[in-house]
Amino acid sequence: MSIKTRLTLELAKRVLPKERFAVNLRERKVSKNAAPVYLTFDDGPHPDFTPRLLDEITKLKAKATFFVLGKRAQLYPNLVRRILAEGHSVGTHTWSHWSARKVSVATWIKDVQCARHEVEDITGKPCKLFRPPYGELTPLSLLALMREGIRTIHWSQDTKDFACTSKSKFCQWFADNTPTPGTIVLMHDLTALTHENLLEGCSHWQENTEFLSIPE
Ligand SMILES: [Zn+2]
Repeated sequence: MSIKTRLTLELAKRVLPKERFAVNLRERKVSKNAAPVYLTFDDGPHPDFTPRLLDEITKLKAKATFFVLGKRAQLYPNLVRRILAEGHSVGTHTWSHWSARKVSVATWIKDVQCARHEVEDITGKPCKLFRPPYGELTPLSLLALMREGIRTIHWSQDTKDFACTSKSKFCQWFADNTPTPGTIVLMHDLTALTHENLLEGCSHWQENTEFLSIPE
């Protein structure tokens, strides 16, 4: 992540209300003594992996949040509906997975809008949650998101699952990174390692943790 992006995110974190930009969340009432943790999955849906991921999340008795790409939602609309039907939240992640730093703000926000409209057409309900690809934003793109009434959700812990090479490394990450209440965890639909080992990884955290979806 570039220094400019880091500064933009830091600025957003400090000056914007949580309804507009969130890195950590403690919004929902949870069971007594349980810490809320938000598992999030980017880049899907994937025709094989997302259904398996949903099955594992159900076994975990968890709710989660999926930041889907517009172009993939268009290909697999039933998966977007299934995510919602199972009580999880859906947000968007642009249509094309473009970084806000690589194209003009006008082009980028159009890509954001296309994805949002696609998901809203599929689900028949408003979709305000959004995560920028690579976590990258510029001050202008952030302003454009605010004008759209979009709620930007960043993350506080990155599993780096897409770069992970083994089950043991994936699970060890959970053992090494105890969440704090409100932690937002970044993962992805598009790697088999994630759904195959989610249960074992999260078993390091399950005591006194409640896995919630991000409120829409
Ligand atoms: Zn992504």
